[in-house]
Amino acid sequence: MMNEHGSLSINSENIFPIIKKWLYSDHDIFFREIISNGSDAITKLKKLELMGEVSLPEDNKYKIEVIVNPEEKTLKFIDNGIGMTADEVKEYINQIAFSGATDFLNKYKDKANEEQIIGHFGLGFYSAFMVAGKVTIDTLSWQEGADSVHWESEGGTEFAMEPGDREERGTEITLFLNEDSYEFSNEYRAKEVIEKYCSFMPVEIFFKNANAKEEPQEDLEEDLDKEESGDDIIDAAVDEDGNVTEGDGAEETEDGVQEEKKPKGPQPINNTTPLWTKHPNDVTEEEYKEFYRNVFHDYKEPLFWIHLNMDYPFNLKGILYFPKLNTEYDTLEGTIKLYSNQVFIADNIKEVIPEFLMLLKGAIDCPDLPLNVSRSALQNDGFVKKISEYISKKVADKLSGMYKVERESYEKFWDDISPFIKFGCLKDDKFREKMKEYIIFKNLEGKYVTLPEYVKAAKGETSEEKAEETKAEETKVEENASSDEASEKKEEKKDIVYYVTNEQQQSQYINLFKQEGIDALILTHNIDQPFITQLEQSEDSYKFQRIDADITDSFQEDGHSEEALKEETDELTELFRKTLNKEKLEVKVLKLKNEKVSSMITLSEESRRMQDMMKMYNMYGMD
Ligand code: ADP
Ligand code: MG
Repeated sequence: MMNEHGSLSINSENIFPIIKKWLYSDHDIFFREIISNGSDAITKLKKLELMGEVSLPEDNKYKIEVIVNPEEKTLKFIDNGIGMTADEVKEYINQIAFSGATDFLNKYKDKANEEQIIGHFGLGFYSAFMVAGKVTIDTLSWQEGADSVHWESEGGTEFAMEPGDREERGTEITLFLNEDSYEFSNEYRAKEVIEKYCSFMPVEIFFKNANAKEEPQEDLEEDLDKEESGDDIIDAAVDEDGNVTEGDGAEETEDGVQEEKKPKGPQPINNTTPLWTKHPNDVTEEEYKEFYRNVFHDYKEPLFWIHLNMDYPFNLKGILYFPKLNTEYDTLEGTIKLYSNQVFIADNIKEVIPEFLMLLKGAIDCPDLPLNVSRSALQNDGFVKKISEYISKKVADKLSGMYKVERESYEKFWDDISPFIKFGCLKDDKFREKMKEYIIFKNLEGKYVTLPEYVKAAKGETSEEKAEETKAEETKVEENASSDEASEKKEEKKDIVYYVTNEQQQSQYINLFKQEGIDALILTHNIDQPFITQLEQSEDSYKFQRIDADITDSFQEDGHSEEALKEETDELTELFRKTLNKEKLEVKVLKLKNEKVSSMITLSEESRRMQDMMKMYNMYGMD
């Protein structure tokens, strides 16, 4: 048939060095691209099989093999999928692939900012040229009477095509690595990359080192084959057949075809049915925990998790885990792994996953994601936004459900999950709307209360005083009857919420409050400052005041006018000005009801909070 040489019409002399430069940070991505092409080829054949278009041997077993050869510095990727006819190679490799590269160039050549390109979203087949000076394809189509094809290119615009000698259905792709990419023929490096991208691919992947003296996988395979035949002769099989197995390793031969029919002994290096693909009812608690350990290498148990499973209006599956707070730093450290059809895309893609959700740990698989675009396109994609909103809504649903049905667990988890929830409220208005009634606070007794609960209790304590205050306010109610309630609320004095930020430093005040029977909330996390500020702004009925702020109203003893205290005031002013070396310091002297407290320094709520906020903004990069 053909013996074809050709030149590809591309404007650029050699596009690959450019692509290579652009994708430098994700140099290893070709593994994913080539392996997922193999997986696609198998999926296509499976479809044909289902449709009755092709009948395969009953014991046909789909697989992808990756063979590293550290001596020759080559990598081989072999699949037993649909393969390609000569015409298909011309169309899909020569034309589409290269025109794809040209498209890519045209799309991005004007973009000065290299970061515009999403490196993790690969270029398909030709990403192989990022690491290889020469790439060959040997392929045989599933179609009756198809001839095998050998194709090769050295990465420029030239390619050569000729009849090949592949005898089994499928495709073998060989990469002859460039010197600066030799690392990828190293067994451990290669495995590491495959595990990163392909851990959950839907087709079994088998890994081999062509230079390994012993090939434990092959031996094991032999063992299991023997076992299959009923004899338990594992040790003998290793000794007996070790060499034989090594000798016939070439998958291109007919032996390979036979081998493929046998049950596989060696373990694939991936898990073809990750937990998120299963129905939540079919997954045990231990399986969720095991998956968490395996994927996130976190041996602390997760607190709980959410299994997302959605078909409409888009396809999305995944599991989100709430990790335990890192107590040393009081921080949540999350990772959300994004997959598309079980192929890893990247961690923490902020265009798809709401920022606050990245404090969780989880895997999200969304095959509908448009991945071959720039970051800015992702940001402006309405569909991507919907995905992000859906995930955020599901998390809020889970949390509010837990509050309503299992408040005890909710309280137990609260200290760990509250920084996450508060961050979510700060970052996502919809999330805040859904969660605001389920925010709880630890009080001085160590109980968890909501703000309305806190206020109600506070009013109960000092009911007489409050009743008088409210009466005074009530007279201001507007004439418009229909808006009675609203205006009443507006006119009403804001509810003061006292809080503690450091139980040790503020212990003196805590004691005072306890003696007076006034409650306060413990808000010790650094997310609490911006959180309560937002709460005051959004709810408009609360005024937060730290326990050591201006508390004189509540604790001042009656009957001491400023006049009467003038002498003490002058004395103390001088003392403090001198000691603190602050000329303009104003000192106010009050007589407190409580004798146990000798003196207190207070800083106004506003100025202290300003300082705290500045610190917070710097820490969380909030705008
Ligand atoms: P994409 O996978 O996005 O279509 P690629 O550049 O990765 O783009 O691949 C181009 C085309 O080459 C594929 O669509 C497919 O038709 C063909 N192809 C690549 N690899 C294989 C393979 N292993 N088996 C069969 N066809 C393949
Ligand atoms: Mg592809």
